[in-house]
Amino acid sequence: MTTAFDTLRTGQILIVDDNLKNINLLRRILAAEGYVIHTALDGQTALDAACSIHPDIILLDIQMPDMDGYEVCQVLKADPHLCDIPVLFISALTDTDGIVRALGTGGVDYITKPFKIQEVVARVNSQFKLVQQRHQIEHLREQDRQQYETLDKMKNDFIHMATHDLKNPLHVIIGFATLLEAVEVQPEHERLMHDALDSIQHASQKMRTLVADILDLAKMGTGAEIQFSAVPFIDQVQKWVAGFGALAKRKPLDLMFEPLGNEFTVSLDAPRFERVVDNLVSNAIKYTPAGGWVKVAVESQHDRALLQIIDNGLGIPEEDQTKIFDAFYRVGREEHLEAEGTGLGLSIVKTIVEQHGGEIVLDSQLGQGTTFSVYLPCA
Ligand code: ADP
Repeated sequence: MTTAFDTLRTGQILIVDDNLKNINLLRRILAAEGYVIHTALDGQTALDAACSIHPDIILLDIQMPDMDGYEVCQVLKADPHLCDIPVLFISALTDTDGIVRALGTGGVDYITKPFKIQEVVARVNSQFKLVQQRHQIEHLREQDRQQYETLDKMKNDFIHMATHDLKNPLHVIIGFATLLEAVEVQPEHERLMHDALDSIQHASQKMRTLVADILDLAKMGTGAEIQFSAVPFIDQVQKWVAGFGALAKRKPLDLMFEPLGNEFTVSLDAPRFERVVDNLVSNAIKYTPAGGWVKVAVESQHDRALLQIIDNGLGIPEEDQTKIFDAFYRVGREEHLEAEGTGLGLSIVKTIVEQHGGEIVLDSQLGQGTTFSVYLPCA
């Protein structure tokens, strides 16, 4: 793979000529231009050197004993690892036929003997510029390929999710609705009616959450304008957390709010940031077994605000921690999958935190608990 570093590296040139005087002259001219020079006095040595050094450019004399320049060029062009290296032939000015033949074997240009310094420098520099541009294009292509792979993976995850998580609840809704239609409402059918309605409600709720998450994520991708205003942070977070009191009680687990120090303001798009607190607190409750606790802590630290959602629940295995913020990613352990989810919450959280100029840090240990720390710039 070509890296950005490759595109910036010093040019490496291999000079191939059986005449040491020519080699030394070219070496002096090109070394003065900042190139690193390698040399070979015959065709075979040149091919070996090309394999091991992989130079950016080869200057190749036509007339050489044993293997001449045409032959060397043909071997280079037939080798998939070496065929991209541009070959500039070295030829006598008068040898027009030789130059035509040399270009026909795959050479890109030629320099003539006796050497004119400016011509040698101009031709080699222009070839090296092309080499650098090619490396840059390869580098961009590689980036495009990686981006394409990421998008392709997201598309596949989405299709997988849409097939399972949207189709399954739909089957439940349709199945029970059909059943209800066929049932005559008599006292002995009341239980069945009640269970069917429960299943329909549950499945519809699941689909509503999923659709809301997908729409949220899509809306953020469009870069909809973010509306900041100064918000008293402790007071606002406390109100948001209080909304989870009933859910915590139902589990049951302890939900605590622990502000540290005095009230302070943070520049927020409050309705949007509410999704951060909602997702992190509901996850903490969801992934903490009954009898456990969830703590929300808020404090001002010099020029930033710190919001922490801490739980003593299931924790997140180390190998999942780098992928946990990816869209549709869920921990594949049975205990985690028992709780319903879309795998979209944390990617929405991360996007919103970054839109606020902040950062989210995860600290978790399997079986011990999880802490999400959100750092925000203070107003
Ligand atoms: P989901 O809708 O599945 O909860 P999220 O994107 O919110 O999706 O979270 C991704 C995954 O991260 C979850 O499926 C869960 O496995 C794991 N996770 C998130 N928060 C916690 C937590 N507080 N404790 C343990 N696991 C968590």
